[in-house]
Amino acid sequence: MASTSEPGPTPLVAGNWKMNGLRSNLGQVHAICAKIGSQRAEVMICPPATLIAAVVEASHGSALLVGGQDCHQNEAGAHTGDISAAMLRDCGATGVIVGHSERRTDHGETDTIVRAKAEAAHKTMLTAIVCIGETAAQRRHGATLEVIGQQLANSVPASATSANSVIAYEPVWAIGTGLTPTAADVAETHAFIRRQLNERFGAGGPQFRLLYGGSVNAANARELMSVANVNGALVGGASLKADDFLGILAAYTR
Ligand code: PEP
Repeated sequence: MASTSEPGPTPLVAGNWKMNGLRSNLGQVHAICAKIGSQRAEVMICPPATLIAAVVEASHGSALLVGGQDCHQNEAGAHTGDISAAMLRDCGATGVIVGHSERRTDHGETDTIVRAKAEAAHKTMLTAIVCIGETAAQRRHGATLEVIGQQLANSVPASATSANSVIAYEPVWAIGTGLTPTAADVAETHAFIRRQLNERFGAGGPQFRLLYGGSVNAANARELMSVANVNGALVGGASLKADDFLGILAAYTR
């Protein structure tokens, strides 16, 4: 199996704190910042919106990137409780996750909405981490590639480039369950995503970063991150504790 030691895009390991974290947890950020910079990967934390400014401040002078977990597709207006891409940018974020399966499920976000959110991110010069992935039922029915092919085609806007967009393949059944696909399954899916990006974006296709997400931890990261066309990870639960997250980053030790 080919490995990430082949020339390719700089990997990204992004931690999604979801609805977890208070100011009292900022010590985890300090601990991460103290140990990053030498790895062969960029590192991002996506805390809840309430903590973005504080994490930006806590990580000042370090290599840590900070992202949001969602943004509204509109620039401003009457959308109570929502946050625009410009607001994320304004408090120091440089990226944003869009189309996470929990947003798709909990908030009924369709591919069309996700595409508009990614476009909003691009207009504001935020990197959009666009999430796609099949459910357990879709996988059982052998529809994995069809589902992610449609999500990829319909959620990634024409404004996407390898510089402003990252694709995160997250099988829904692997998120927060401790289950992961086999390395061979990940290789097949990521190869399929890469082919589709190459067809659509030509020479830019190989430069897109493709993250794997779903129950990544320190014990399985090295194997998953060495799969061809895996250029990093989107990490949920294991990003909440600095030691666990740094254990995943060890897969990219120089
Ligand atoms: C996620 O929600 O993006 C995720 C990958 O979660 P976990 O790592 O906890 O499975």
